Amino acid sequence: MITNLPTADDYKNVAFECLIQAYKSICKVDNEELEEGVERADIWDYNEIVLKTSVILTHQALEALLKSKISEKTPLLLIEQKRENWKTLPDSEDSDFADLYTISGQELLRTFFATIKTTDFNQDLVNHFEEVRLLRNKLVHGIGADKLTPEPILTMILKTFTLICGKGSFWLALQDKFYDHPAQLEGEPVFVFGRVEQYVHLEYLEALLGRGEMNRHFEHDFKARRYICPDCTGEEGVLVTDDGQVSQYPNFRYTFLTPNEPDSSNVNCLVCHQDFEVERVDCNKEGCKGNVIFINREDEDIDEETGEVYEEASKICLTCDEIQ
Ligand SMILES: [Zn+2]
Ligand SMILES: [Zn+2]
Repeated sequence: MITNLPTADDYKNVAFECLIQAYKSICKVDNEELEEGVERADIWDYNEIVLKTSVILTHQALEALLKSKISEKTPLLLIEQKRENWKTLPDSEDSDFADLYTISGQELLRTFFATIKTTDFNQDLVNHFEEVRLLRNKLVHGIGADKLTPEPILTMILKTFTLICGKGSFWLALQDKFYDHPAQLEGEPVFVFGRVEQYVHLEYLEALLGRGEMNRHFEHDFKARRYICPDCTGEEGVLVTDDGQVSQYPNFRYTFLTPNEPDSSNVNCLVCHQDFEVERVDCNKEGCKGNVIFINREDEDIDEETGEVYEEASKICLTCDEIQ
């Protein structure tokens, strides 16, 4: 018997860790090493090894994700050794899966497509697999790779998630696996991945990749109108800018009408994942064109028997933040 078989989740966890690490390393350089007066391109020339490592991790993750899907049928399909040489007959001792060679490259790809419905995955995945494999091979053999820049590698990471695990999977994995740093439990938090940091990551990715690319990897439409979140906007207090303007912080807009339709009465926040009830009437603040008004029913007080309203629900425009 072959013992110690890995599960689909084992491979998936490894894959997500590799991909999140690949993303984190790139993001860290952009967030911590840029200085005024220094070209970003020069910073990235210096840090090219970070990009190389991220490609290698992405390749590792892509293979692990294919192995994960194959393992949903059986991980025995991953064993490279010809079956006539398997030591599995009654007189053989058990062999440990970890001691065996597993398939990779083309064999892995072909086995993957033998185990899944081709309607779920298509030629895009084959092309992506080849692109990542070729680039990784050039890097590990030290031959002729073009100069690496962060944006295509970030896209490559997001694409690996989306092609195999679907839209939105990158963001959920990042929220799940990011800086769960032990130091955040005591004293001044370090590397905390709170909501503010999550907003900053969305801003970072959107600025670098653009709305069109974001739409390929997130379920919400980044080109649609966007709103403040009734819960997490302003969670950190206020921000006063040089010109004396006061605004809530964070005030990035990652709340979307869901479904995205003219009469939709629900918004969903990409950061806190909460749904909020809204009514579609014009905001009463002069000059505001908003027509998405949050209804806060926590403030509402209605007599259950008589229906008499003691206290109305409070209402806030999610475009200009004005109380209605
Ligand atoms: Zn929120
Ligand atoms: Zn308004």
